[in-house]
Amino acid sequence: MLVQGDRILIEKFEKKLWLSSPTMHGEEQEFVKLAFDTNWVSTLGENIIKLEEVICDYLGCGYAVGLSSGTSSLHLAMKLAGVKQGDIVLCSDLTFSASVNPVTYEGGIPVFIDSEYETWNMDPVALERAFEKYPEAKVVVVANLYGTPAKLDEIRAICDKHNAILIEDAAESLGATYNGVMTGTFGTYNAISFNGNKIITCSTGGMLITNDKKAADKARKWSTQSREMAPWYQHEDVGYNYRMSNIIAGIGRGQMLHIQEHIEGKKRVYKLYKEGLKDLPITMNPYPDNCEPNFWLSCILIDRDSMCEQSRTEHEASFVSGDGKSCPTEILENLIKYNAEGRPIWKPMHLQPIFKDNDFVTAVDEVEVSTDIFERGVCLPSDIKMTKEQQLRVIEIVKSSF
Ligand SMILES: *Cc1c(COP(=O)(O)O)cnc(C)c1O
Repeated sequence: MLVQGDRILIEKFEKKLWLSSPTMHGEEQEFVKLAFDTNWVSTLGENIIKLEEVICDYLGCGYAVGLSSGTSSLHLAMKLAGVKQGDIVLCSDLTFSASVNPVTYEGGIPVFIDSEYETWNMDPVALERAFEKYPEAKVVVVANLYGTPAKLDEIRAICDKHNAILIEDAAESLGATYNGVMTGTFGTYNAISFNGNKIITCSTGGMLITNDKKAADKARKWSTQSREMAPWYQHEDVGYNYRMSNIIAGIGRGQMLHIQEHIEGKKRVYKLYKEGLKDLPITMNPYPDNCEPNFWLSCILIDRDSMCEQSRTEHEASFVSGDGKSCPTEILENLIKYNAEGRPIWKPMHLQPIFKDNDFVTAVDEVEVSTDIFERGVCLPSDIKMTKEQQLRVIEIVKSSF
């Protein structure tokens, strides 16, 4: 508790304040009940078909294939893109590991591309440099971090120039637009996620998005153990058990009725932080004028001059508090003290022990933007069920850290 004399300045949260937890509305249960009532409780049924239609309409895409997760959607995207053993795949560095793991499932070798400061996403300049170094690269995986679109036109133009296939990982950015066009439609193959903490959730699940009918059909077949049309179980391809269940799709149908509300809620949270923290030496996760993010997570970046000493080993973090200064570790520890959940920025992939031998390409030699954002950035509680009063308390906790 922050106490001054005998006055309690900030109360601890009685119930934990989450980073981003599911927000349910009731309609979800009606669609789930429909699955039960009709006994279509497995991987076939109306909810799956309807959810795929709703997502296609919403995104303005040709085909959506309901799958068990965003990760499995990305895996099938890698297969569709033809990633094979030993192939170089150019990937966003500052992202969740699920962006990259599917590359390795197919034996591909991720090469990590640094971020730029305007969106925190893949830097087109670094991408171009990576193509100079790896002209044989044929696939690029770009993620839209925290719901903010990457510089998608520039990245796509570079891919076109080098004859490479673009895969967009829109797991965090469903509903965000770039030049008025929905994210999740810029790649030849794209993935969205319905994981528990995303902008909407089906409890779990994801979709592969594409305009290519043949690709969609292939993905659907692979996802159901690659059964051929034959009187028996006939297999000509390796198969997977990746199809979405009709129950899970029912939750998604209910959630899609409220996606706009969720985005508005996230934007409200972002704006209140921006206003409430404006006197601190920080900036919010930025976005350019041609984008409308879905504001999935609100993050701050502490000015360099206002960072206190912070040290991070592979498994532990410590800091030395300084007057008027702070660091992500101090802010996160303070949030925990008050029963609120924050999160460090994704630790860049090139710093992960599993990828220690993989190459990392920056725009400028010796300048690592993703490492810098990781060191100075932190995700704040961004749950849309957080009340204004609760968020004002979070703001006080952050202020008291400096
Ligand atoms: C959540 C997430 C995924 C994976 O989605 P799942 O549905 O959890 O498998 C992939 N990429 C990014 C950037 C994510 O945030």
